[in-house]
Amino acid sequence: MGSLGPALKMDTMGRTTAANYECLLFDLDDTLYPLSTGFNLACRRNIEEFMSQHLHIDESEVPRMCLELYREHGTTMAGLKAVGYEFDNDEFHAFVHGKLPYEKLKPDPVLRNLLLSMPQRKIIFTNADQKHAMEVLGRLGLEDCFEGIICFETINPRLQPADNTDGIENNSFSSNQRILCKPSLEAIETAIRIANVDPKKTIFFDDSARNIASAKAAGLHTVIVGSSVPVPPADHALNSIHNIKEAIPEIWEGEGEQLEQVIQPAAVETAVLA
Ligand SMILES: [Mg+2]
Repeated sequence: MGSLGPALKMDTMGRTTAANYECLLFDLDDTLYPLSTGFNLACRRNIEEFMSQHLHIDESEVPRMCLELYREHGTTMAGLKAVGYEFDNDEFHAFVHGKLPYEKLKPDPVLRNLLLSMPQRKIIFTNADQKHAMEVLGRLGLEDCFEGIICFETINPRLQPADNTDGIENNSFSSNQRILCKPSLEAIETAIRIANVDPKKTIFFDDSARNIASAKAAGLHTVIVGSSVPVPPADHALNSIHNIKEAIPEIWEGEGEQLEQVIQPAAVETAVLA
């Protein structure tokens, strides 16, 4: 588990010369790799297949229902639980992500070098499960670029089966409890609390306009990725995450000062934050 130290807000002389930004929160899918990989579509097809095969929902109803639940509840999975379907979360994730063409994701040394050159804390914030997040980061060659991952399991700890190591049987586990996910404000505020960041000094990157809107409401600086035009209320728009240096040079401003002021976390390997 990652132990996250706060970034200093003042130097030893008490001057408020802290960095403009102390932390960067990155969505994963369709943000750190382009939409053109087809993962988004493949994922939706797998969700639709799960709905018809496992939940026995009429095939003709599935596409409309899938979209409606996504719109209404943040993710189709959260929506299915909210309207009363019962299924195992891990089985759902395994079915939906297990068949994704991960081989299409290639190492991205350009993004890797960009990330490693950013002096801020960097954390992944995704609605996906830990296994998928680790797989994607590994394929992109970015597994050691982030301090930690805030994922489905992090935001929904009460939905996890009992931890065997505590010796206590957790009978309260229920498969149909409400799932917390972006774009709910509560999910974003939970991530801010877990990451222990000041939203005013944090930049949030996401390809979803509705996630950007909630992030903005939570007080974060926002960057919509995969869009060449700013989408209100996003503060910036990036066609590709590769354009980050041209679009937001402030990330690197005063780098020398920031490096001395930011407390590096003790554990630098990618950890799932909980
Ligand atoms: Mg995304």
